Amino acid sequence: MTETESVESFRLRARAWLAVNMPRLADVPPPASDEDDIGEWLRARELQKKLYDGGFAGICFPTEYGGLGLTPAHQRAFTDESDGYEMPLPLNLPTFAICAPTILDAGTEDQKRDRIGAAIRGDEVLCQFLSEPSGGSDLAGLITRADRDGDTWVLNGAKTWSTSAYAADWALCLARTNWDVPKHHGLTMFLMPTKAPGVTMNRVRMVNGSLEFCEEFFDDVVLPASAVVGEVDGGWAVASRQLFHERNAMGGGSPYVSGKRGHGGMSHVGPAAVAAALRRSGDPRVRELVGRGIALETVARQTSARVTRAIASGALPPTAASLLRLLHAEVSQLNDDLSLKIAGSSAGFGNAETPGVTGKAGVGFLMRQGGSLGGGSTEMSRNVISERLLGMPREAALDRDVPFKQVKRGR
Ligand SMILES: Cc1cc2nc3c(=O)[nH]c(=O)nc-3n(C[C@H](O)[C@H](O)[C@H](O)COP(=O)(O)OP(=O)(O)OC[C@H]3O[C@@H](n4cnc5c(N)ncnc54)[C@H](O)[C@@H]3O)c2cc1C
Repeated sequence: MTETESVESFRLRARAWLAVNMPRLADVPPPASDEDDIGEWLRARELQKKLYDGGFAGICFPTEYGGLGLTPAHQRAFTDESDGYEMPLPLNLPTFAICAPTILDAGTEDQKRDRIGAAIRGDEVLCQFLSEPSGGSDLAGLITRADRDGDTWVLNGAKTWSTSAYAADWALCLARTNWDVPKHHGLTMFLMPTKAPGVTMNRVRMVNGSLEFCEEFFDDVVLPASAVVGEVDGGWAVASRQLFHERNAMGGGSPYVSGKRGHGGMSHVGPAAVAAALRRSGDPRVRELVGRGIALETVARQTSARVTRAIASGALPPTAASLLRLLHAEVSQLNDDLSLKIAGSSAGFGNAETPGVTGKAGVGFLMRQGGSLGGGSTEMSRNVISERLLGMPREAALDRDVPFKQVKRGR
């Protein structure tokens, strides 16, 4: 057995490699438009290839699937060292933090080797096809169907709110394969090529102008039996792992995220930056508002570290990731609110290309609700925390234990 490199030695090696091989953020012009730009995705793939060639990609993924098989402490050291360098940040979510670990948990050897390996090399991007136009909170009640046809599966239905699907090669797609059993028991997870014949994908423009989301329609999309991730009709177990990874990542607990800072997207301008831009950092009222944000962020960071450790040691169940997800929403919404409050009417200045710091606070506020919906809504997180962690009575559900085909749907 080869000895694992110490975190300190890894850190020093990373520091030296980054200085020679990765561009410094200060030397890279900010993207012309928001983060959904296709050029940025090509750039992210290029940067990921550089990390792979340099031996710094997939730090916590097992070596047999192309990773380095190192610990979260090695990843944290690399992330600290990479601050100030251009990093392939768009690949963190959902590819590395959500989809790849789900495949690692539930996929076949081929799926793990092929999909995780290709993502780590920078060759492929992954996305999630979970939510449907009929609603995302009741994920187990989805109606996209997959019917067996000999050795293949034929999928029909629609998905929506798929983050950056336009830039992805493969999607983890949850579909109903059995209508004769209660809703959680008749689902199967598939790995679907996003450009498979029969997939129609549209980009969805949001109120802040971003085209990050996509919607997909499936018309007789044929997938081989090898596309099944986990067990046939066992898709809920796979989806549960996926949601765990998503909530964990949103709360800052994922060991698979590499790098922490870019030029900053349209929606990521914080209260302190707005105060500084308006030269109001000395105003006692503004300081109080900035302080509120910093206080909650500090509490969230420390709680996140504590909960992550407790999940890893088994002291808390994986469903405790809902605590992280809830905290993330609280922090991001408070920051959006505070930024807008400090910016005041100047949040309305600027244009789409050059909104300025205060204009960014205004645009960021338009996406305020996103923080309480992505990865499952805050209300659903509160339900999970009350039912699964605190042992409170379960929410009434008329469809529990009822074969799905008998469940009344729609109007
Ligand atoms: C930033 C972002 C990224 C996303 N990325 C993806 C992605 O990549 N792939 C994907 O598949 N989806 C994605 N989504 C969709 C997301 O998973 C859904 O928005 C979410 O699950 C909620 O579903 P919905 O929007 O259909 O709301 P609904 O399910 O229609 O819910 C509407 C409201 O009712 C509340 N509600 C519903 N049921 C209950 C209940 N039982 N108890 C209490 N309150 C309830 C909800 O909390 C919500 O406030 C993303 C969303 C966002 C905002």
